[in-house]
Amino acid sequence: MPGKILFSLLLSTLLATAPVAADTRAFVGATIIDGTAIDEGGSTMTEDAVVLVRDGRIVAVGSRSEVEIPGDAERIDLTGRYLIPGLINAHAHVGDVRGLESGHYSEDNVLRQLGLYARYGITTAVSLGGDEDEAFVIRDAQERSDLDHARIFVAGPVLNPGSPEAARIAVDRVADMNPDYIKIRVDDFLGRGQKMAPEVYEAIAVRSMEHDIPLAVHIFYLEDARALLELNADLIAHSIRDQHVDQALIDQMLARDVCFNPTLTRELSTFVYAEEPDFFSDPFFRREVDDAVIETLLEPDRQRAMQESPMAEGFRAALPIARANLKLLSDAGVGVAMGTDSGVAGRFQGYFEHLEMEMMAEAGLTPAEILYSATGGAARCMGLEDLGTLEAGHWADMVILRENPLDDIRNTRSIEQVRIAGNRVPDAD
Ligand SMILES: [Zn+2]
Repeated sequence: MPGKILFSLLLSTLLATAPVAADTRAFVGATIIDGTAIDEGGSTMTEDAVVLVRDGRIVAVGSRSEVEIPGDAERIDLTGRYLIPGLINAHAHVGDVRGLESGHYSEDNVLRQLGLYARYGITTAVSLGGDEDEAFVIRDAQERSDLDHARIFVAGPVLNPGSPEAARIAVDRVADMNPDYIKIRVDDFLGRGQKMAPEVYEAIAVRSMEHDIPLAVHIFYLEDARALLELNADLIAHSIRDQHVDQALIDQMLARDVCFNPTLTRELSTFVYAEEPDFFSDPFFRREVDDAVIETLLEPDRQRAMQESPMAEGFRAALPIARANLKLLSDAGVGVAMGTDSGVAGRFQGYFEHLEMEMMAEAGLTPAEILYSATGGAARCMGLEDLGTLEAGHWADMVILRENPLDDIRNTRSIEQVRIAGNRVPDAD
């Protein structure tokens, strides 16, 4: 390395770190579940562990005897607690909704929602569409040791061009914004809309590949999933909901290691407000939701409209198929990245991720499979290199629980504190 460059690198390192002494924290005494594998037999678990964090990143993880704690480290005693990687929602939407109203996109609203996710232990939200410049700026500023809101990754606008030529232009335009994903919808919304034409999504798929940007696809039908996988789509962003998956589709997904987001709560949200949902009485839900929102959702006219909606009926019927397909794909070894499609009105950010995991358990997945799908598995699926697991070099995004999530996945709700880059996520204002 030329001396001049080395000198300026040294200088910039000094300048970057000089004002504050290295910030070292030792999280001591918890049972950690590190998120690196599906842990059915305690393979990723360490009791009485130490996680050592410096400047926001993990520098060592191990049992108390393995990790030396520097004298100047701040010690956080977590005896009797469970420490897991921060949860990743691999299919979110961020910044648009306030209460039950869309159209509120702003920097403030993006940051408010990233705070909300964080308080629920969702330390990363992969926003699959609807992202404006503000979210790109926030994403570009999140690699810092004082971060205390959820991280965001972005797709820009959901593309819906009318022709192959328009498709190429649209992809080029988003590519200029440097997105983490390109997102499209190939769906006729139960026969009520116009599905994107195959030549259009083919043009998008080819152009995305030329830009080397992964393509996330919203689909409903098995045949559309097949066609998009044929075109090298990288993520199936919802469950297949018209019929049970077959071996051919499983083989297609395994061949290119394509993951999917179950988004079971998406279906739920389309019909659950036809009457009062059980979760309206859950304090873990109520603590972050305005009473006015609950009152609106309980209005008899609104409930009746949902009771009589053919769309709601159609999606209600699709949910058991989505659930069965989750089990089939998971058992076949297809990668599952926990994702909810929350952040749309009626899909409550933070709470719905925990509800999603509960629904994944009802679909037959084990707590170990579900926890992995929301931590190391999600990171692997979504290409998030230094997130999702408790390993040296990774950001210290962590959730501290009172109960063991491998006993019951609902124990992810027993949150005592959430840490992002080692920093305690603040309570709501
Ligand atoms: Zn979505």
